[in-house]
Amino acid sequence: AKQPGNRRYQFYIASIGAKSQEAFELEIQMRQALERQEFQLYYQPKVNLLTGQIEGAEALVRWNHPQRGIISPVEFIPLAEKTGLIVPLGEWVLRQACHQARVWQDQGIYPLRIAVNLSPRQFNQSNLTNFVVDILHETGLNPHYLELELTESTLVQNPESAIATLQTFKALGIRISIDDFGTGYSALSQLKKFPFDVLKIDRSFVCQLTEDSRDEAITTAILQMARSLKLKVVAEGVETLSQLNFLKGHQCDEIQGYWFSPPLSAEAFADLLSTGKKF
Ligand code: C2E
Ligand code: CA
Ligand code: CA
Ligand code: CA
Repeated sequence: AKQPGNRRYQFYIASIGAKSQEAFELEIQMRQALERQEFQLYYQPKVNLLTGQIEGAEALVRWNHPQRGIISPVEFIPLAEKTGLIVPLGEWVLRQACHQARVWQDQGIYPLRIAVNLSPRQFNQSNLTNFVVDILHETGLNPHYLELELTESTLVQNPESAIATLQTFKALGIRISIDDFGTGYSALSQLKKFPFDVLKIDRSFVCQLTEDSRDEAITTAILQMARSLKLKVVAEGVETLSQLNFLKGHQCDEIQGYWFSPPLSAEAFADLLSTGKKF
């Protein structure tokens, strides 16, 4: 009875070893990737449900790895967060996204709001607000066209300083969104002390919408609460016409999802804008 248990134990050790070795190599490669400019931003449109117009875009990072091809952020953001590499990577993302938004404006495309994700570690950097202001100056982007997406767990870690940071952003005219809303543990009643403008309903509720009556009930309740609190609501992960119709019928403000468009390279996004695609 001892043998197999022992073997299992050794296997366990070996697999942990392999895992951390892999993570270690990924970390080294990520540092190089930053220098070699292997990261790339994709842009996913956010569409106004009343007008059918593209109002903004969420910037989503990809790693264009020379051997492995395009790597999803799901594979490297958690490690970047753990190692602190998210700070220089996030800096690059913010600068690149603001720069791109400004380039599109200069090309005569109507002004779009650009949304950038901020991880907990980035949000807790003591110089964050100065740094955001510097990038806005540097790129010449009006702060009204910048939106920052934060998850509830980021805010509740240190509520007092989070409120202060958000107030600074708000005073500058930057829009604040609560990302993945509904997946955290905090109720909207707890979140109300944070000055934010937008709720993004998490994809996990949207994907079963019109199939699961519980998700319909949750989504309807979120939309009602948001309306009474004068918050905008964006539904993420909208993939079907019936999801879209449900959201439209319940006065959701904007949608984002494959139904309208997946995240696109900057070139493809500009092409989409120039066709004037609406629904
Ligand atoms: P997120 O902020 O919730 O971003 C939305 C994710 O949903 C994106 O995945 C997007 O491609 C995907 N998505 C959009 N529409 C649909 C749809 O209709 N169906 C389905 N199944 N998926 C859809 P992506 O680009 O792989 O990003 C994953 C996560 O990685 C993001 O989730 C975000 O948490 C993180 N991330 C991405 N870029 C950055 C970044 O620059 N900084 C930070 N800190 N995190 C980032
Ligand atoms: Ca997001
Ligand atoms: Ca989200
Ligand atoms: Ca998500």
